[in-house]
Amino acid sequence: MADEVAKAKAAKPGGDTIFGKILRREIPTPYIYEDDQCVAFKDINPTAPVHFLVIPRKPIMSLDNAEDEDEQLLGHLMLVAKKVAKEQGLENGYRVVLNNGEDGSQSVFHIHLHVMGGRQMNWPPG
Ligand code: 5GP
Repeated sequence: MADEVAKAKAAKPGGDTIFGKILRREIPTPYIYEDDQCVAFKDINPTAPVHFLVIPRKPIMSLDNAEDEDEQLLGHLMLVAKKVAKEQGLENGYRVVLNNGEDGSQSVFHIHLHVMGGRQMNWPPG
């Protein structure tokens, strides 16, 4: 079983997450972007030359747990992904991924966008 699938199967929704600790600055992680609604930082285990995460400050566990009231926030995350992708030099395209739940290989239960680029992405993903 691939590492990330094993991690996703072991992950349990609910409670505090590593991203909560990053947001509270308990785990020092340089932000490459921040505003009052979200932050972005580089993935600790990059799968592409550029791989960063965009996470809301609000601790929504997963897309499944998002509510109608989160509509603006979710749209904001997408626009921040685009803006930071350009700042990171991804002029030739990039991929935005949101893993949801166990079958989606979500391992951290604080909703986040992956933004990956700097190489040709393959389709379909595994
Ligand atoms: P998921 O599998 O939930 O979609 O993605 C979680 C991502 O968070 C993974 O790509 C993983 O490498 C990343 N990650 C997990 N822990 C940390 C951490 O402590 N710091 C950073 N920067 N990334 C992390």
